Amino acid sequence: SPSQGYYTRRGGVGESGDFITSPEISQVFGELIGIWYISEWMAMGKPSTFQLVELGPGRGTLTEDILRVFKQLSSVLSKCDVSVHLVEVSPKLSEIQAAMLTGGKVQQNPEDESAYMKGISKTGIPIFWYRDIQDVPPGYSFYLAHEFFDALPIHKFQRTDKGWREVLVDIDPEVPEQLRFVLSPSRTPATQNFIQPEETRDHVEVCPEAGVIVQRLASRIERDGGAALLADYGHDGTKTDTFRGFRNHKLHDVLSAPGTADLTADVDFSYLRKMAQGKTATLGPIKQREFLKNMGIDLRLQVLLQNSSDTATREQLLHSYDMLMNPEKMGDCFNFFALLPHHRLVHPDKKDKPEAKSPLPPVAGFNELLLK
Ligand code: SAH
Repeated sequence: SPSQGYYTRRGGVGESGDFITSPEISQVFGELIGIWYISEWMAMGKPSTFQLVELGPGRGTLTEDILRVFKQLSSVLSKCDVSVHLVEVSPKLSEIQAAMLTGGKVQQNPEDESAYMKGISKTGIPIFWYRDIQDVPPGYSFYLAHEFFDALPIHKFQRTDKGWREVLVDIDPEVPEQLRFVLSPSRTPATQNFIQPEETRDHVEVCPEAGVIVQRLASRIERDGGAALLADYGHDGTKTDTFRGFRNHKLHDVLSAPGTADLTADVDFSYLRKMAQGKTATLGPIKQREFLKNMGIDLRLQVLLQNSSDTATREQLLHSYDMLMNPEKMGDCFNFFALLPHHRLVHPDKKDKPEAKSPLPPVAGFNELLLK
C-alpha cells in the first residue's frame, strides 16, 4: 500500500530496525557480489558500458560495498562506463540510500530523466532512483535483487475436498478490529490462474508480482544483454506455509497491526524459473554457503583477519562469517539464483561445430553447475 504499507511507512532494515540482512552483517557479502558482476562482465567480453540495477536496495549498503570493489578494480573497469539504477518505493529508505551513497547530494525529480532522483556516488558513478523496473532505461544491465522478492505480496491456496480454495483475509465478526484467515467458499480467479496443473502440494503460496518482474528481467536480458543475480530465503517448489511477520527482530502475527511489521514469504524459485519462460537460461537455486564458498569467502576472511590487529574486529569478522555461512543460520535457508543469456552457457552454433569453439568460462559462484 502506497500510504499504509510497511516499506512506505517504516521499512526497518538493519540492527535498529525489524530484521537484519546479509549485507548489513558483513562487508564481505557485497564485495563477493561485486566480484561476481566483474567476473560476468569479463566472461561476456567486457562490454563498453553497463548499468547496475538493484531492486529494493534497503539502506544502500550492498551497492556501497559493490561500488568499493568496482573502485578497487578500476584498472580492470577503466574503459567501462558504469551507472547505478536503484528501484525503491520507500521514501525513507531512498533518503538513507542517498546519504550513504552520495553523501546526500541529490537532485529531486530531474526534468530530463525517468528517475525521481539522481546523484553521483562518492566514487564518481551516476546513480538514479525509480519506483518501477519499467522506468529504468533499456541497455546492457546487471540486475541485483537481495531480499526483494520475499517482500512482495503473495496469494495463498489450500487444497480441499472440493478442490483448490484461496486463503483470504477477513474481519473477525466476533472481535472488532481483528483480522482472520478464511477459505474462499468457491474458486476465485486466482485459484484458476495461479495454480500449476501439475501441483502436488496441499498448500501453495504464489507471488504473481515476482513472476511479472522476472518476466521483465528475462525480456530485458534477452534483448539488451546482461545478467540477474537474485538472492533470497527460498525453496525450489517444495515448501508450503512460509508467510510470516517480523517486528523488532521477533516473529510477529501477520494479521496484527498491519503496516507495522515486515511481512515475508519464502521465494519459490521453481516458479521464477517458469516465469523466465526460456527467454534466458537460469542457474540455481544454490545455497548461500555454497555460493559464497565458491566465490572465495574463506580466502577473503583470512586476508581480513590478517589485516586486523585488534581482537574485537577479529571476533566480529568470525561472528559475521558464521551468521552468513552456518547452515543453522543463513547458510542454508538463503539461496542464489541467476538469469543469464543462453549464449553465456551454450555456444549458439555448438550443434554445428562443437570442436571449433573454446569452452565457455564457468559462471562464478555456481561452480557445481545446477543448470536447469
Ligand atoms: N536489499 C536490501 C533490503 C531488503 S528489504 C538488503 O538486503 O539489505 C526490501 C527492499 O525492497 C526495501 O528497500 C524496500 O523498500 C524495497 N521494496 C519493497 N517492495 C518494493 C516494491 N514493490 N518495489 C520496489 N522496492 C520495494
